[in-house]
Amino acid sequence: MVVVPEARGIVEARAILHNPRMSRRHLRSVPAAVLEEVRSLVGAAPRRDLLIECLHRLQDRNGYLSTDRLAALAAAMKLSRAEVYEVASFYHHFDVVRASEMPPPPLTVRVCDSIACEMAGANELLAAISQSLGDGVRVQRVSCVGRCECAPVAVVGQNPVEEADVHAVQWAIDAGATEAPLPEGARRMAGYRAAGGYRLYVDCTGGRRSAEDIIAALEHANLRGLGGAGFPAGRKWRVVRDMPAPRLMAVNIDEGEPGTFKDRYYLEREPHRFLEGMLIAAWAVGIEKIFIYLRDEYAGLRAMLEEELAALRAAFPQAPDIELRRGAGAYVCGEESAMIESIEGKRGQPRLRPPYVAEVGLFGRPTLEHNMETLYWVREIVERGADWFASQGRHGRKGLRSFSVSGRVAKPGVHLAPAGITLRELIDEFCEGMQPGHELYAYLPGGASGGILPASLANVPLDFDTLQEHGCFIGSAAIVVLSQQDSARAAALSAMRFFAHESCGKCTPCRVGTQKAAELMARDKWDTGLLTELAQAMQDASICGLGQAAPNPLLSVLKFFPHELQTSFDTENTETQSAQRKT
Ligand code: SF4
Repeated sequence: MVVVPEARGIVEARAILHNPRMSRRHLRSVPAAVLEEVRSLVGAAPRRDLLIECLHRLQDRNGYLSTDRLAALAAAMKLSRAEVYEVASFYHHFDVVRASEMPPPPLTVRVCDSIACEMAGANELLAAISQSLGDGVRVQRVSCVGRCECAPVAVVGQNPVEEADVHAVQWAIDAGATEAPLPEGARRMAGYRAAGGYRLYVDCTGGRRSAEDIIAALEHANLRGLGGAGFPAGRKWRVVRDMPAPRLMAVNIDEGEPGTFKDRYYLEREPHRFLEGMLIAAWAVGIEKIFIYLRDEYAGLRAMLEEELAALRAAFPQAPDIELRRGAGAYVCGEESAMIESIEGKRGQPRLRPPYVAEVGLFGRPTLEHNMETLYWVREIVERGADWFASQGRHGRKGLRSFSVSGRVAKPGVHLAPAGITLRELIDEFCEGMQPGHELYAYLPGGASGGILPASLANVPLDFDTLQEHGCFIGSAAIVVLSQQDSARAAALSAMRFFAHESCGKCTPCRVGTQKAAELMARDKWDTGLLTELAQAMQDASICGLGQAAPNPLLSVLKFFPHELQTSFDTENTETQSAQRKT
């Protein structure tokens, strides 16, 4: 069996060990005690692709990453210090502290300021806890933490406090509740197997099902990638299966799109339904090794998944090797090629394509990349039949969608609804209407990047390919509902600031364009001509979807909400002119 990562690591390590000049240079001026401490944490010579995991260990132990520990890690891994530093400084969750700087306080409270939390009072919460908490606690403003249905959210250490206020945050600090709790009510291995779980996988590996039957079922059901891109799942399996072995698999659970929390929702309840789908995909495509990439914000889920993966390995020792990898706070790693770079232990910068990851992916091998939810549906579709899934749509669409709904609805949360349902139907039938005192004004159909639609378009079917004519897309089906108390302009500014913060910096139209657009949009009066030109440049010339989609909310405001761009001066002037015309 060929396992590419280890092979690469071994080859590189041997080359370096036989190069005494290189070893001496890497060890120079690293204090022996620091080197010893780092080696005791990460091992004598960790694989190159485990760099981010090693950084997590150092940060977890010390609360930050000092430059001398980074130098020691570089020596232990036989890497240049620049290589280690550039990775550590790329990810938001690593605190790199130089010798001249003070380490952060031992506890950090992170307050989400993304759209749903902002609407629920995140800015007021930030101001209040910044004042009330003492110097021993650091308060940080952070991007979406994936709990938009319980906004506003503050994360104390690793413990998410939902519907947070000052008292709840203070209580968590006083009680020392800084660890993420394990998800309550998740069906573990024993319960899942008792309910018939893994029978389908056993049938597959036992020759009672053919890969062709499974793939045909996915195709007939019209199952598409549910991370946002919507590529047909069955076709992807065929493409990768036809590539030369060894083939690898990467599962994307880095849901960082503001407004999206469906993957967390399913993992907190039925982790093995996804894991069984993953093993079936690996069997059908002929995968040698699987990497699961989980966002760092889901610390409780990570602990649970580690336990369940151990149970899985014990139950199915012949299954492919599975590694659970921990993100480090970079939205761009939700992009498939950036995630692959991150799994390889590098900065999460998207690759230029072609070649596509199906051909040249992880460690240069053909790679089946899937969002977690896509795999979650495999067992259900095969057991209940492709017709069952395909017959669920509405308004001419097929299948089911898991809508993450947040904002001004009475019942936010993940709602499983027919593909093609309209927003009006979704609110009335699944969300128990709007919150008291709120009327529908606008909505984001696809998180921060999917644009903004007015209430007058609440009757458009929500699905892949139905929103393009309005300059929007559904992506991962993250619906944020705005009322008359909100403004599309503020939501667009929040989104652009988010993209400016998350841009990986690889290409100029996105790196500079998002910053410049956020500055222009923060002004009282928008320079609409300049913003339109800037948006065009970003859409045309950015390398990946982040930069290409970043202007969507801005363009939606120009198209659907021009009344919000009138300044108070404009409004007064218009009213005066109209009064003068009347007299
Ligand atoms: Fe990086 Fe933005 Fe360019 Fe994507 S578009 S590669 S996120 S700079």
